[in-house]
Amino acid sequence: MDNCIFCMILEGKIPSSKVYEDEICIAMLDINPATAGHTLILPKKHVQDLTEMDEELGGKLLMVAKKIGLLQKEKLGAAGFNVVQNNGAAAGQTVPHFHIHVIPRYEGGPELAAWRPTEPDKEELNVVLKKLTE
Ligand code: AMP
Ligand code: ZN
Repeated sequence: MDNCIFCMILEGKIPSSKVYEDEICIAMLDINPATAGHTLILPKKHVQDLTEMDEELGGKLLMVAKKIGLLQKEKLGAAGFNVVQNNGAAAGQTVPHFHIHVIPRYEGGPELAAWRPTEPDKEELNVVLKKLTE
């Protein structure tokens, strides 16, 4: 797709630090990593976000995320890893070409921004539950 920075990377028009490639995707280092080894998995097909993703490709990409996480543990000494995937600008998606972040986490490593838990009462939870299930 024109004007898509990740499509340009996939076409080799913009350089990237490629960690892994197969017939459906590449995995590359994020240029602004949250931790050392932060990797992005991008499908070769331009898909904007999860709402446009098909089951087969989505399933395969998740298994690539597993492979990259295992690699980070084995080769970088990560103690764990986060798999993060943003959908839509409101959710923090800055590049509208589907991608999965695999972020290695190290013992004693930096805290990463997370949501702040709230404490709704049962009634408030039920309002949401009703909207989602009726
Ligand atoms: P998101 O905010 O989920 O859309 O994530 C986009 C990610 O792409 C950010 O973490 C950026 O640092 C990363 N990014 C943007 N441009 C590049 C690039 N040319 N090479 C590698 N990573 C990139
Ligand atoms: Zn694209």
